Formats: sequence, C-alpha cells, structure tokens
Amino acid sequence: MKKLIDMHVHTNASDGVLSPEKAIQRGIENGLSGIAITDHDTVTGALAIDHLTIPEHFTVIKGIEFSTMQNNKEVHILGYNLDVYNEDLQVLLEKIQKFRSNRVLKILEKLKRFNIILDYKEVQGEEPPESIGRPHVAKALIKRGFVQDVSQAFDRYLAKGRLAYVERYKLETKEAIDLIKDLGGFSVLAHPGLLSEQDIYSVLEKGIEGIEVYHPKHSQFATDILYDLAKKQKLIVTGGSDFHSLSSTNNNDIGSYTVLIDPFLESPLASSI
Ligand code: AMP
Ligand code: FE
Ligand code: FE
Ligand code: ZN
Repeated sequence: MKKLIDMHVHTNASDGVLSPEKAIQRGIENGLSGIAITDHDTVTGALAIDHLTIPEHFTVIKGIEFSTMQNNKEVHILGYNLDVYNEDLQVLLEKIQKFRSNRVLKILEKLKRFNIILDYKEVQGEEPPESIGRPHVAKALIKRGFVQDVSQAFDRYLAKGRLAYVERYKLETKEAIDLIKDLGGFSVLAHPGLLSEQDIYSVLEKGIEGIEVYHPKHSQFATDILYDLAKKQKLIVTGGSDFHSLSSTNNNDIGSYTVLIDPFLESPLASSI
C-alpha cells in the first residue's frame, strides 16, 4: 500500500478548526501515514505535538505557512522541518502576531463605519487562536448575520481593496525563504496555481526549494504544468489539502491531496520528525 502524507494542514492555532490532536486523528482515520502542520505565521500548533502520543507508524512534520509579500502581492511560503524552537523565529512570530491582533482591531474600527459593531473577543471565539486573521473576522460576521458566507465576507469587506481591508505585516518572500533555510528546513511555494507565471518565476529566483503541485485550487491543467516545472527545475514536489475545516462547500478533507511520504522520511532534513 502506498504511504501518503498530506503536506498542508491548518489547525486551530491559526484559522483551522481542529486542534493538532484532532487533525492527527483525522489523518489516521483517513488512512494517511503522516501530515504536516502548517499554520499561518505560527508554529504553536506544530509545537503542541511534542505533548501528544502519536502512533509509531504516523509521522507529523512540523511546518509553517508564512504569509509574505512580493511586489505588493500575497505569496504564501511553506516551511518544513525548520527549527521551530529557534529564539529568533519566536521573536519574529511574536512581532507578526502582535501586528495581526492590531490589524484585526483596525478592521473592526473600519467595520464600525458600516454600523457593524464586533467585539475583539467575539472574533477570537471560544478558543483564541495564536495567529488571528481575516478568516476569524469573516466567521464573526457570518455568526452575527452581516454576511451569508466567507466569500461574501471577503468580497464585501475583507479582501484587498474592499471596505474594511487592512494590510498585513510585510514579510518579504525572500526573507521567509532565507529564514527557513537558516533554520535547517526546506521551503515550498504554496498553491502557485493562484499566482501568475511571472510571480512564480520571481519566487524560484529567490531560492525556493519546492513547489506545491497538488492543491484543491489547482486544475488538472495547472497541476500538470507545475509538475513539469518542478521536474525541469529540480524542485521538490509536494501537495496537500490546505485543510481548514470540514464543510459541505469544500471537498478538501485531510488526505484529499497528498504525496508519497518516502522522500520526506529519507531526507536528512527530516531528522527532527
Ligand atoms: P490573513 O492571513 O488574515 O490575511 O487571511 C488570509 C487567509 O484568509 C487565507 O489563507 C485564506 O485562508 C483566507 N482567504 C483569503 N481570501 C479569501 C477569500 N476570498 N475567500 C475565503 N477565504 C479567503
Ligand atoms: Fe487559511
Ligand atoms: Fe495559503
Ligand atoms: Zn494554507
């Protein structure tokens, strides 16, 4: 039987709904041999696995998904097997978290102009995430009936250029790639199918080591092109579900997009697994 890993899973440390423990359980239930925990701008979810008992046959890769900017455009960089205990990383992530909290407060201020009064606590929800962001605001907007769903929340208020948009902390794409390398990990361009060809090549020039070929937002056409590109450029091929939650409107359960686990187990970089 093929041993598969889902290399892109969010937990409730950022905008996912499952705890790291539940995410691992779901991965096991769905027949996987491993998952990578890749929360937005935080390693809290990845660190939490140190306190869990994980079955021997199951691998959890500690990762992160950095939100970065390249030429004023949003580019997500996945980092795997980086030293998540590094102090400089903690300092940077704390700075980003602080910025994120302030950003949500600014979004809430902007929403007031449209008679939408939301409390920060309400946005945090019952279990405050380490890394708060627009999806949490979207959830609160839905709960209070101001919008019907997440895409309406983004289209009206939260997306770039919309009524309550506020910029994120500007981590440069190159900074994230270099940092991941410095911390002993390997970097992968997340969901490149959402970027222009020019932007993809700009990221490749910055020394990215892999690209996420398999992703729910990639068409078969895009997947084929990205696979060829990865092979031509001798880049690591990864894939994952980008799991956030189980809902009737998405089909990306944990394990719905995967790659063979073997290359990641054999890699010297996998020593921290
Ligand atoms: P943030 O990190 O706070 O800027 O939020 C970015 C996250 O919001 C992304 O990683 C997605 O999970 C989600 N997101 C961004 N744009 C949309 C959209 N148009 N519809 C639904 N979710 C979105
Ligand atoms: Fe997300
Ligand atoms: Fe992403
Ligand atoms: Zn993601």
